[in-house]
Amino acid sequence: GSPSTDNPRNVLPQTSTEMPEGTIHLPLFYDTVKTLDQTVEVDYYLPGCPPEAERIWEALVAILENKLPPPGSVIGAETTVCDVCPRTRSEKKILAFKRTWEIIPDPDICLLDQGLICCGIATRAGCGALCPTVGSPCIGCYGPNQGVEDFGARMITALASVIDSNDPEEIDRIITEGIPDPIGTFYRFSLAHSQMRRSSLPGNGTSVIRSVETG
Ligand code: SF4
Ligand code: SF4
Repeated sequence: GSPSTDNPRNVLPQTSTEMPEGTIHLPLFYDTVKTLDQTVEVDYYLPGCPPEAERIWEALVAILENKLPPPGSVIGAETTVCDVCPRTRSEKKILAFKRTWEIIPDPDICLLDQGLICCGIATRAGCGALCPTVGSPCIGCYGPNQGVEDFGARMITALASVIDSNDPEEIDRIITEGIPDPIGTFYRFSLAHSQMRRSSLPGNGTSVIRSVETG
């Protein structure tokens, strides 16, 4: 158990537990996390977590005016958060990435140029660059922009261009010290849809379900 959990008997969650009041059930988790469109056909995508009210309104208007794009389309912008961000970008190179609590960022300069991991360059626009505008890095909640196959790969490319070193060991140190959780940082919203997605296990979860149904 975790140190923050009072669990002296080290009880682990079970799908079925007998209690004085009766049997309580927990759903059985699949062995692979899948996106909705890996499971059912999705008509349209509305980016944002959550989408801004204006984006929902635009989608409703498109439905009411019968002006929906082809099925399977994203109803949203095809630019990035960087494209609408008011901060000034330069060709500045950095020697260390910073966590948000380590600096008070300059109000006008690009956060990535100041060493903060801002994902605006890979993220679809639509929010009006809300977070960087108030000094907080974009964490990518609008998902990958059009044409970005893999969010993390796009971010690594962007970060490679700002690291001020050609020495592999130093680059390794800068990344390891500055980005302690790369998967959590770059795939917070898109891991199941990325090229980093775990290979399906045999049956992709169905074998587990079947064993329960028949067992
Ligand atoms: S990286 Fe972030 S702060 Fe810099 S321009 Fe893009 S959205 Fe703005
Ligand atoms: S700036 Fe990034 S994280 Fe913030 S609301 Fe916009 S897309 Fe989401």
